[in-house]
Order: sequence, then C-alpha cells, then structure tokens
Amino acid sequence: MHHMTLAEIARGLADKKFSSVELTQTLLARIAQLDPQINSFISLTEDLALSQAQAADARRANGENGALLGAPIAHKDLFCTQGIRTSCGSKMLDNFKAPYDATVVAKLAAAGAVTLGKTNMDEFAMGSANESSWYGAVKNPWNLEHVPGGSSGGSAAAVAARLLPAATATDTGGSIRQPAAFTNLTGLKPTYGRVSRWGMIAYASSLDQGGPLARTAEDCAILLQGMAGFDPNDSTSIDEPVPDYSAGLNGSLQGLRIGVPKEYFSAGLDPRIAELIHNSIKALEKLGAVIKEISLPNMQHAIPAYYVIAPAEASSNLSRFDGVRFGYRCENPANLEDLYKRSRGEGFGSEVQRRIMVGAYALSAGYYDAYYLKAQKIRRLVKNDFMAAFNEVDIILGPTTPNPAWKLGAKSSDPVAAYLEDVYTITANLAGLPGLSMPAGFVDGLPVGVQLLAPYFQEGRLLNVAHQYQLNTDWHTRTPTGF
Ligand code: GLN
Repeated sequence: MHHMTLAEIARGLADKKFSSVELTQTLLARIAQLDPQINSFISLTEDLALSQAQAADARRANGENGALLGAPIAHKDLFCTQGIRTSCGSKMLDNFKAPYDATVVAKLAAAGAVTLGKTNMDEFAMGSANESSWYGAVKNPWNLEHVPGGSSGGSAAAVAARLLPAATATDTGGSIRQPAAFTNLTGLKPTYGRVSRWGMIAYASSLDQGGPLARTAEDCAILLQGMAGFDPNDSTSIDEPVPDYSAGLNGSLQGLRIGVPKEYFSAGLDPRIAELIHNSIKALEKLGAVIKEISLPNMQHAIPAYYVIAPAEASSNLSRFDGVRFGYRCENPANLEDLYKRSRGEGFGSEVQRRIMVGAYALSAGYYDAYYLKAQKIRRLVKNDFMAAFNEVDIILGPTTPNPAWKLGAKSSDPVAAYLEDVYTITANLAGLPGLSMPAGFVDGLPVGVQLLAPYFQEGRLLNVAHQYQLNTDWHTRTPTGF
C-alpha cells in the first residue's frame, strides 16, 4: 500500500479497494517502524489522522469524491496546526501549540486530506541540509550517511522513504526543490503569492512560498490544487483564478521553447550532473521541445544578494521570539534584559543566531545603503534577466543543484560552502517565479534533479512538462533500498 501515489490512492479509495482508515493505519505503522532510521517527523498526530480518515471514509460513503479525500499527508513543522506543536525545528518553539490552523492546513483538511504528523526541518527553515534542526538531523533514505537536503528535509525524506505519498513544504531559497533533487522527488515552488503564507511561520517574508513535495508531477498537481488560491488574510496573496492543474497535465510539448542558460554550466557544476541534465534535454527534445541557449548575466550576484535580503528579513521576523509573548523563556532571569538575552541565546541555534546578526548588521543605519539597498537593486536585475529570457522561451531548464547530497557534517563547519550550493534555486525566489525540480538520474547512487522555471503563474506549464517527461522516463519510480 505504501508504494501508491496520491493519484493511485484516490482511485483505490474511489473503487473501495481499501478505506482511508486502513491506509492511515498502515502508514502510521510503517512510520513507527522505519522513521527512527531517518528522523523525518518531529510530531505524529495519530488521533487526528484516524479521526480525519474516518470522516473522509464517511464522506466517500455519502457519495463525495475528490482527489485528496482520505489521502494521507504531513505538514512541514512551520505550518501552524491548531492545538498541535508547531516547532519550526527550534527549541524556541518546542512548547508552542498553535492556536489556529494555517490557511494551507485548513484548506487541505477541508479537502479531506489526513494529517499524519509534522515533519522535521532546518531551524526556522534556514539551511540546505536539515542538520540545523533542534530535533536532530534528518538522514537521506538513499544513503543514510548523506543529508536529505533542506530546509524541508523531513518532508522529503518521509516521502522518499514511502512513509507517505506527499507532504507540504516551503521554499525561501530552494527548500522544496533542493531536497526534492536530493531524494528523487518532484517538488514545486509556486509563484510568490499563489499559496497563502498565513499561519506559515515566517523566515524571509518576501521570498517564502509553500508548495508540494511528492513523487510525481501528477501528485504535485493534486496537492497544489488543494493549497493554492487567494487568501484575504495574507496581504501578498494574489487574487488570480486557480486553474485545474490535473486537467493541464496532458498538453503536447510540440514546439515548446526551452531556454538553457549558458551560465548554468560553469566550473562549479559536477560534470556528471551536467551530463544527466543534457540527457533530460534530449528526452524533452524527443517530445517536440525546441532548445535555445539563453543568458542570465546577473546570476553570479544572486547568492550575495539573497544572503543579505533573507537574513535581513529574518532578523526582523524573528525579533518577536523574545521570551515574553510565546516560545522559550530562560530560567530565573535577573532582569528584563537578561530575560531577552538568555531566552534568545538559549532558544535559537547557532545558524539562526548567525543570520539574525548578519541581517541586523545589513539593516543598521551605517550599512543599509551598502548592503541591503544594493542587494535589492541586484534583486531587480535578476528579475529583469528572467523577464528578458521569457520573451524568447517558454520555460528555463537546468540543474537544481551543482552537486548531489553531501555527507552529514561535511559542510557544517563552513556555512558559506553550504550557501554556495543554492546557486541554481535562489534566483526564482528573488524574482518570485515558479520552479519545479524532478528526478533526472543518479550519481554514485544519489539522486539528481533537473529544474524547470516558468513565467509568473505558469505552474500548470511546469507540471505539464514534468508529467510528459515522467511518462517517458522512469527515474521518478526508483525506490531507495530498505524502504
Ligand atoms: N538554503 C537556503 C537558506 O538557508 C534556502 C532555505 C529555504 O528555502 N528555506 O536560506
């Protein structure tokens, strides 16, 4: 049962081959048995899951249908879940039970999805390896000595290990696409504003976007359908109609113009990954796509700009965690200042503290123009590059990451080495564009992802291309040994 995709589960439930309760019990037992190896969950919500599964079975018995009705999922632990710990991977929020559901959580629950639990993540979504979680590192099911990627490493590892078919995740600089690449999944970061951020604990508000992680593009379409849409509670949510993503999967790729940026194939890219990317280009050409070389000349400035803007926003967002209103409070504070200092010093891990300091520095009066303002100008240049490119092509294709998943601990003493791994993903966040990563092959037994980027609100185009690719390749069907 655990090998089924969301689409297969929906058919099985509709045909009464099994009930949502049976499926939920099977997956909960599998999580209990296998998750100790990979540490992908922070909290399990067995009681909620079983009551949601019973309710979904009852709705189906009453003749209701729906792709998510009775489908088991999990939420990255930064989506607020009412009455359930919402930790953000941090000691700071270890005792925080959210008083309300995030819009994404509420929408998926209303569609009948069953929440099995909350998944592990880098602390406050800062990281690319899922090693900065207060709840311990997540292991990659493809090789337990390697990282699963981050910050949505728990969601990715759980889906890759077939503990459940799909999970929610968020992407500020690559945290859906990069773990998807590292664990052989399909992950979609939607256009900024497509999915509500209400109740999604903020890291860098102008970059954060929630989206689906699943094994196939078909399943990403199903999960995104349940997540997307205008939300008056989120002032950056965009009031655009949501297309039927599943209906759009079968469009022909004949004549599709694919842009391949020449900057993507620089010295930093593992040549074995470059070869796999060229193979996926050939596969798409066979389906009728036309390839064109393009240029994104400002790409080289994106990492420094991102690592000023994201920490700047984080330093502001995280100022609310002060030991007074909610979250961790230190023992026996001597006075108010001591309470602030020690609550934050003890509650936040070292990567979060580093980002708060970098961000506060970049925003300080003396350095604002030199760093923050300059980074915002680069952000506009990065966006302009994409706008020019999309005048000539329909999608942009390249690697998701320059290297496959590294060994646990390999980059933990050198944060900049980890930041450099985000080179292909962060530009989409700076520009607000949608991006998708899908399986493209293996290097030393570790999965490799190919990334597709599209113009604003063209998530359907990304899913269409990925689905057609997956009908003609079988990388996404490979399963890690032992799972
Ligand atoms: N690796 C990037 C960072 O650490 C992206 C993280 C994310 O997308 N949440 O900021």
